[in-house]
Amino acid sequence: MNPNASHPKILPATPESIRLASQALRDGKLIGLPTETVYGLAARGDQPESVAKIFAAKQRPSTNPLILHVGDPDAVHSLVAMDSDITRRRFEAASSLWPGPLTLVLPRSTSVLDCVTAGGNTVAVRVPAHLVALQLLREISLPIAAPSANVSNYISPTRPEHVIDGLADSVEWVLDGGICDVGLESTVLSIADPSNPPTILREGVLSATKLESVFGEIVLSAAINNMELTKPPSDAPAASPGLHRRHYSPRTPLRLVRESDHASSANSDLRVLRIRLRGPASSLPGYVDVWSLSADGDPLEIANRLYETLRRADSGQFDQIEIDQMNVEDWSESGNANLIAAISDRLHRASNQDDAPLGR
Ligand code: AMP
Ligand code: MG
Repeated sequence: MNPNASHPKILPATPESIRLASQALRDGKLIGLPTETVYGLAARGDQPESVAKIFAAKQRPSTNPLILHVGDPDAVHSLVAMDSDITRRRFEAASSLWPGPLTLVLPRSTSVLDCVTAGGNTVAVRVPAHLVALQLLREISLPIAAPSANVSNYISPTRPEHVIDGLADSVEWVLDGGICDVGLESTVLSIADPSNPPTILREGVLSATKLESVFGEIVLSAAINNMELTKPPSDAPAASPGLHRRHYSPRTPLRLVRESDHASSANSDLRVLRIRLRGPASSLPGYVDVWSLSADGDPLEIANRLYETLRRADSGQFDQIEIDQMNVEDWSESGNANLIAAISDRLHRASNQDDAPLGR
């Protein structure tokens, strides 16, 4: 269909291919779907057989629940049970941020499949801000389950080719939506419990300050407020973010090092790559190459380039990767503490050191 595409399953996002993808989804097949956060592995979320294909293709533990994507906030009502005024008010407030990189966790309705919620009594929902995703979701008018389109524990995809790299045999098509604008998974916010403040379960680009201005009330962050996430919240199934320790790892050994470390302590026989978070990509002793995620130290740019850079670093030319840690204290001037926490969390998950601390 697209003679210039790098793979025959990657379709340019024309109305015709969106219809083709939509029909494939209706038929129970899997599609690579661009969103502004990362590419999703999409299946209709109202059919257990289709949802099962996601878990099989990703080799995802069945305890890890899926996010349902819809094209419009109104489409959420049939998926959730909002029997509290507080929850209804919070939902109205939060949905003003849709379409956007925000996933809401709400009490589920009985119509939602157990395999989507991992058996829990809440469901995660989102309206993504990508024109292609929105067109497809509005055309199909079904809830679409779409976790990141990578094999479990590998790096999330931010380009159509990344979906093909891991899941070529599983997807019918990948819609080409270009490079993801955000490049980091959505902020997951629970408003399931009216007796507790809205709580961020997984950090993303959204700041608590922004969320607080929308809600007109305090918003907690499991990571920043040091809330216990190793035990699931009572309203969530067993696998909230934070449970899967090595989550976004490249295959090449990856170590976190201090930003101020300017020489590698690795064995000199090894081909070691250094990835700096900020500043120039000038050469450093002990490294065969030095890359920088953002010359200006812009956290949005760092987030945007992180996964693509990790995938490139993992393409086989290096024996080891060393990447700067993001110490929250060293980045306090950079504005959005939640985004800093999100990047720091993903870096810890990407590291496959045995002694790596769990990402906060
Ligand atoms: P992914 O789409 O691969 O980024 O993964 C979706 C993530 O959303 C899961 O790993 C969970 O951490 C989170 N999630 C989905 N549903 C729920 C839920 N009902 N309660 C809490 N977290 C959820
Ligand atoms: Mg994922």
